[in-house]
Amino acid sequence: MHILFVGAHPDDETFASGTIAKYVEHGHKATIIHATRGGKGHWEIPTPELEVIRTEEMRQAAEILGADVRFLDYDDASVPGGDELREALVEVYRELKPDIVITFHPLVWRDDHRRVGMAASDASLKASLPLHETAFPAHRPEPEIFFFGTPMTKQEPDVYIDVSDYMKKKIESFKKHTSQWQDWGKPPEEQGDYMEKLIDWYAHRFREYGRRCGVGYAEARAQ
Ligand SMILES: [Zn+2]
Repeated sequence: MHILFVGAHPDDETFASGTIAKYVEHGHKATIIHATRGGKGHWEIPTPELEVIRTEEMRQAAEILGADVRFLDYDDASVPGGDELREALVEVYRELKPDIVITFHPLVWRDDHRRVGMAASDASLKASLPLHETAFPAHRPEPEIFFFGTPMTKQEPDVYIDVSDYMKKKIESFKKHTSQWQDWGKPPEEQGDYMEKLIDWYAHRFREYGRRCGVGYAEARAQ
C-alpha cells in the first residue's frame, strides 16, 4: 500500500507522522508532498535561505519516519487555488498511485491549507478518469481521502489510529523542524523552553485522541 501525505508546508505532516511511521514499519510505502518549502514563515531569515533550511529539516524529519519527500515548489503563503494545484496533484496521483491520501480538511484555518485540502480531494476523482488525458495514465481506483484532525478543524474525527508505539519517532521527527518552533513576537533570547512547551502541547493533543479511543496516543482523521 502507498500512503501519500499532501501538505502545504514542511512540518504540516507532523499531525499524521505517527501514522506514517506506523505504516512504513509494517512494510508500506509513504510519500510526503508539500506544496511549498515554507519560505515565508520566519521574522528574520530571508526566503531563499529559509527554503534551504526547511528543505533539509524536512529531509531529516522524513528520514526518521521512513518516508520519501517531494515539493511542488509553489511560493509559501501564495499556493494557487483551483485548477492549477488540482492538475499538479492529478499528475502526482497518477505517477505515484497512492492507495490512501491524507490531507487537510478543505475548511481549516489558513488559505494555503484550505487550497491544498480542496485540490487534493478534487484531484482524487479526476486522476481516475481515463478520458482526462495527461502525461500519466489514469490511476484507478481513485485513492481514498482522509482529512487529518488539527486544532483548526471543526469537523469531529471519525477514524482514530493508535500511534502509542510511534510517539518517540513522532516527536523525534517533529524536533527536526527547528526553524519552525519559535514563539512569534519574542526575540531569540526570550524563547526559553518553547520547544519543550510545544512538545507538551503536542503530546497532550494525541493523548486526548488516544483517550477517546481507549489507547495511549492516537492520531485522528475524518473521512
Ligand atoms: Zn502549514
